[in-house]
Parts: sequence; C-alpha cells; structure tokens
Amino acid sequence: NTSAPRLPSYLKTSIPKGASFTSIKKDLRGLGLHTVCEEARCPNIGDCWGGKEGATPEEGKRAATATIMLMGDTCTRGCRFCSVKTSKAPPPLDPHEPEHTAAAISRWGLGYIVLTSVDRDDLADSGAHHFAETIIKIKQKAPQILVEALTGDMEGNLDHVAVVAKSGLDVYAHNIETVEAMTPFVRDRRATFRQSLKVLEHAKKNGVRITKTSIMLGVGETEDQLLDALRELRKVDVDVVTFGQYMRPTKRHMKVDRYVEPAEFDRWKQVAEDMGFLYVASGPLVRSSYKAGEYFIENVLR
Ligand code: SF4
Ligand code: SF4
Repeated sequence: NTSAPRLPSYLKTSIPKGASFTSIKKDLRGLGLHTVCEEARCPNIGDCWGGKEGATPEEGKRAATATIMLMGDTCTRGCRFCSVKTSKAPPPLDPHEPEHTAAAISRWGLGYIVLTSVDRDDLADSGAHHFAETIIKIKQKAPQILVEALTGDMEGNLDHVAVVAKSGLDVYAHNIETVEAMTPFVRDRRATFRQSLKVLEHAKKNGVRITKTSIMLGVGETEDQLLDALRELRKVDVDVVTFGQYMRPTKRHMKVDRYVEPAEFDRWKQVAEDMGFLYVASGPLVRSSYKAGEYFIENVLR
C-alpha cells in the first residue's frame, strides 16, 4: 500500500482565542503588513498571538510573535514541501519596503518579530541588503522590539550572510529543514545541508547571539541521521532547534512518510536539550517561529 498515512487527531487545531489575538488581528488591517501567520493559515496563530491566560491585550501583544514576509510572494526556488509560488524572474523589490515595514512594525507594538522571505537567487546579493536595511530601520524606530531574521542560504555567499548578521538583529535563523541524506529529496537542488551549516556557522562568527534552525520530521529521516544532524548543528554552535511534523500542502508536493507521535517529539526535545541546545521547541504543530517571542523575551534576551 503506497497511500499516505491518515491524519491523526492531534494535528487538528482549535479556534484561536486569547485577549491579544483579536487586537493584533485588528491592528493588522491598515498597517499593510503581510504575515505568514495569516496568509499560510498557520495552526499556531492562537498560541503566538493569544498571549498568556489572564494577560491584558497590551501584555499579550508584548509577548506575541508574528512572522512578516519581505521581498514578495514569489520564490526562485522550488522545494518539494513548500507551497510558495515559483518563478525564475519574480517582480523587482519594492525599495520602500524596509521603511514601510519598519514604520508599521514599530506602530504595531508586538514584542517579537520574525522577518522572513522567499529565496531571491535573481538578486545579486540574494536580498541581503534589503533584509539588513529593514532590521536597521526597525531598531532605529523601536529598539525594544526583538527581531529574528529567518533567511535563505544566500547561495552560500558568506559576505551576504554577514551583511544580515551585522544588522543588529537578535536571532539569526536559517532552516536546514531535514537531515543530510534526505536534503536532495526535500529541498531545492541549490540547497545543501553543508551550505546551510556554513550559513549558521558564519552568522555566529559575525557576532550573532542566538542562531536557530528547524527540522521537519516525517519526511523519511532515520533516527541515526537525525542524531547526526543535531551533532553537526552543535559543532557550529547553533543554539536553538525546533522540530515539527511535515504536512503535505497539496497532492503535488512530496508525501508524508509518517506521522510522528507527540511522545516522540517530547523525546527529541530531551535528546536535543541533553546535547546542549539552549532551547528546543518540539511538537507535531510546532513551526520554526512557534511562540518564539514568549520564550526569548522571558529567558534568553533580557
Ligand atoms: Fe506566525 Fe510563526 Fe507563530 Fe505560525 S508559528 S503563528 S507563522 S509566528
Ligand atoms: Fe519555499 Fe523557501 Fe524553498 Fe522557496 S526556498 S520554495 S520559500 S522553502
């Protein structure tokens, strides 16, 4: 039987609640920002935007995390797990985007912002300066906001990695997505496991305090391969790792190999913590930015 396994009940999510959720959603109208949270219908939006039980909307906002897309909605790559649309020649960058994004974010009042983007191999610097300019402007306008940049691999160009790493950000994230052996079957052929490790290593060498990566489970990886991947990440001093379940966006995307039980996610969290990662988020629905603000604001960056 070659059909994909059935969706377990723990992967079905409930309606978001929480005092700050409605307020964050309302603010967004009129700010002109595109959040991955809403546009990709992320299952964690209630947790990331909801704030803690008993918190006021303002407190909730300060503990909330949102992920903003820069540089358009069209990627020059085509990873087999990803539903973002693809083109060799996406529309040009909006030169006003860094200023507009920074102004909107500083008005919004959230505590933690993740900036991410499609991969732009069509640009000479993969968009590194655009990314950096956005971060510099956010920090000028609202230095209290913590900023995570979740970037592509910049085609392995370490000078471009350094441009982003030195922009004043708080967390540099780049996702290896899967173990080395599965990389050619999961990511675009221009992405390699080793290249991604170099990106993370170089970010750290350029003074970034926290580096972070994410791994999808259930794409066909073995336990040994996963352990190897974690060891390699520790060797280049990556601080934070997250594990989540791979979910197939459409039938044109690669199949789910298996659904990983919540108890197994708990076990990987323990394994990774024992290996020295500073923080590990692990669970079927965990995505790379899952409640990052709440955790980092309380435990790491203050
Ligand atoms: Fe948004 Fe990321 Fe949280 Fe999903 S996990 S709601 S994309 S910040
Ligand atoms: Fe999707 Fe990123 Fe791959 Fe582009 S590089 S196809 S946005 S995962």
